[in-house]
Amino acid sequence: MMYTPQPAAGHATATVKLYSDTLTLPSPAMKRAMFEAELGDEQAGLDPTVNALCARVAALLGKPSAMFLPSGTMCNQIAMLVHARPGDAILAHKDSHIIAHEAGAAAALGGGLVTGLAGEAGQFGPDDIRAALRAASRYAPEPRLLVVEQTAHLGGGSVWALDRLRAAADEARGHGMATYMDGARLMNAVVASGVGARDMASQVDSVSLCFSKGLGAPFGAVLAGSPDFIDRAWRWKQRLGGAMRQVGMYAAACLFALDHNVDRLAEDHRHATRLAEGLSSLPGLRITPPQTNIVLFDTLATGITSFELRDRLAMHGVSITAMDRYLGRAVTHLHVDTDAIERAIAAFQDVLVA
Ligand SMILES: *Cc1c(COP(=O)(O)O)cnc(C)c1O
Repeated sequence: MMYTPQPAAGHATATVKLYSDTLTLPSPAMKRAMFEAELGDEQAGLDPTVNALCARVAALLGKPSAMFLPSGTMCNQIAMLVHARPGDAILAHKDSHIIAHEAGAAAALGGGLVTGLAGEAGQFGPDDIRAALRAASRYAPEPRLLVVEQTAHLGGGSVWALDRLRAAADEARGHGMATYMDGARLMNAVVASGVGARDMASQVDSVSLCFSKGLGAPFGAVLAGSPDFIDRAWRWKQRLGGAMRQVGMYAAACLFALDHNVDRLAEDHRHATRLAEGLSSLPGLRITPPQTNIVLFDTLATGITSFELRDRLAMHGVSITAMDRYLGRAVTHLHVDTDAIERAIAAFQDVLVA
């Protein structure tokens, strides 16, 4: 498969930037909150703003303990390092972030045998878990951890319904496995479904939340779980260089995001739905109907690759991501308004129809 790690030139110059919800910039009000944050040595547990954020997220997710980390990726890696040992099997969807987008870190750092599960829209059921497990024997890797992604990124931002989550977690527990939720876009799932973050997180042993996606903070993620889990996670945070100093400025941005940028995710979801509607009539483009803020489209029947589509849209001032040869992605976020969505639809029309 072809993969282009460099963003196309259009990403810098586009006026409608749909390539990711990671490109959000802190608003002036968020920057003021950062500027005024009380600071201390995070590593020593002395940053009051970080401590406030951890307490707030722990309560939000219904877990007793939490820690602040630089990124969602580090949350995922530390969760796997704590829950599993080298040689243990870690089950995750085959299109999950930990398999597709973390540069092989699970193998490089923890030595886990990450096993990709099949299943529609980035999700799987008890059957898919059973199908991936080998009969217990001294020859087989020990299944140790199940990872679910909420929302499922390459499933088109699909939302795990509570009963599906419970069924998968119950199945994993039945095989003696721990469960972890990569909640990079958990709040999108909460806003889209109306199910509480606590109810979702209560299905798993540990969970993370990323603040630098749709929540609009420049940095940061929180990992939550039992006190024993977080204790052991601290040793890995230290080892990986994820123990920090006066990062209360960033924690302040995350607290600001919880206060101001959660409910408005509904707007991003409406924009994604409108975009999908507007694109659905275009010849050859196959749209995955969005449940949250991610619109995936298959370009195969248009006669051009997603790379060509991306480059032509860039000339119309619209940036998207080419995920794979024929798989394109557009993501809505707080810098994309209704007008931008209409301009994006017009640009797609110009490229694919005119
Ligand atoms: C972005 C993302 C992450 C990692 O978050 P970073 O903060 O960018 O490291 C993890 N999981 C999923 C599903 C993501 O989309």
